[in-house]
Amino acid sequence: MSMSGHAPPAPAPTHPLPTAGPLAADPEGIVEVGRLVGELTSEAAKALRRRNGPLPPLTPGELSHVVDAQLPEGPLPREGAGQDAVLALARAYATHTVDLADPRAAAHLQPPALGVAAAAEVLAAAFNASVDTWDSGPYAVELESRLVRALTARAGYGPRADGVLTPGGTASNLQALLIARDAALRARRDVRAAGLVGAPVQPVVYCSELAHFSVARACAVLGLGEHAVRPVPADASRRMTAEALEVALAERAADELPIAVVATAGTTDYGSVDPLPELAAVTRRHGVRLHVDAAYGGGALFSDRLRPLLAGIEVADSITLDLHKTAWQPAAASVLLVREGTDLTASTGLRVAYLNPDDDGAEGYDGLLGHSLATTRRADALKVVATFLALGQRGVGALLESCHDLARHAAEVIGANPRLELAADPVLTTVVFRYLPDEANRDRADAVNGALRRRLLRQGRALIGRTDDPAGDRATGRVRLKLTLLNPRATRDDIQELLTAVEAAGRAVETEEQP
Ligand SMILES: *Cc1c(COP(=O)(O)O)cnc(C)c1O
Repeated sequence: MSMSGHAPPAPAPTHPLPTAGPLAADPEGIVEVGRLVGELTSEAAKALRRRNGPLPPLTPGELSHVVDAQLPEGPLPREGAGQDAVLALARAYATHTVDLADPRAAAHLQPPALGVAAAAEVLAAAFNASVDTWDSGPYAVELESRLVRALTARAGYGPRADGVLTPGGTASNLQALLIARDAALRARRDVRAAGLVGAPVQPVVYCSELAHFSVARACAVLGLGEHAVRPVPADASRRMTAEALEVALAERAADELPIAVVATAGTTDYGSVDPLPELAAVTRRHGVRLHVDAAYGGGALFSDRLRPLLAGIEVADSITLDLHKTAWQPAAASVLLVREGTDLTASTGLRVAYLNPDDDGAEGYDGLLGHSLATTRRADALKVVATFLALGQRGVGALLESCHDLARHAAEVIGANPRLELAADPVLTTVVFRYLPDEANRDRADAVNGALRRRLLRQGRALIGRTDDPAGDRATGRVRLKLTLLNPRATRDDIQELLTAVEAAGRAVETEEQP
């Protein structure tokens, strides 16, 4: 008899239910995971061998029809069809998804994942540990703590610096600004409690006009409003200078409370690195926190050759680092680091009776719940540690170095081609440029560049990026093409092939679409 008055459950069915198979992490189950992964990856390998480019040669509409045909009962069929259906899915996926290992994939800050990291990811998924409490993933908690400490040391922070893994640079920037907002408002409340100030305040955040949009989004999420971001004009090298920041700070209204300056170490488009020591001197003088968004440039920490780009990063109050960009990890593996003296748990620290009661914590049974905005949290440190154990910092740094060299080579090739125009010398691994249409189409340069990229997408053989140059005008146009080079195996011939494809697509667009 149901106590709550609900109808009694239906009697057990007499026909056999399909079994779910073994669970991933029992001794037979994990062997079965290996077998199934082996079969899935063999299917994927066959499909990959038949591919001709980084994208399927389909329009979005055509791809949608292909998926409809492959999933006749949709993604949630009433009855399961067992392993064969999964193998078919693996085949279809490998045939039609992006192939980042193709050397002609060069659009986004999305690297081809390292095999060792992907394999460790399978293990992490099989065990399904979580780092929020000690007992939900003890070894994972230890790995993350050690990884964070090693990264803080590499960044030049002191031994009591702290950090946390997050699902992305967007999340890392949000948490950094949460900490900054709370610290600024706490300090403000203390001053008000002492009776010195009473006026309401509008918290504001300063960053380069080329900073990532996640800074503005974080301000919106934190209830400050996107208009709380004061974009500081970048200089000719696309950096936020100390002088420009001083001007912006001086221009603020009386009720505005600067809570943070966000410097960018590796702007998404240009890879430009704001002058960190100079900016730090300004923020120190004004008593404002400095957060460094090194989501892209942070990978230079592992390269002796490129590490100087990040000189001065150790003076930041906090740092965002995306290991799923320039440490070749499968997404996601972002890290927020905070300097010694900043309490990472000040804004997120929490004791929950069913997760981390005080007396457990006092006895060392403590996880990372209080470090994070998340509760259940993947053991992302496993793949990162596996990667560094296998390759070393030197091996990971060398990947960035080879992509950097390739970017410089691409810039040379573009510079030597009269139909291509380089927008800026590469700093990290991106190259921004545009196609110069013939005389008859000069005033349609933006339309031609946009159309030529879509033409390449449709053919599927070359995947390049696109952006706007905020300084562009009628004469120079705004639309720019971008190579984001993150394939360490790509060769100079591949770069040549990419740029030849760009030029051919440009000419085709010009002749096809004469106004
Ligand atoms: C990619 C990027 C981000 C956002 O990171 P996600 O991991 O995509 O959330 C933030 N800042 C910069 C400079 C970036 O390049």
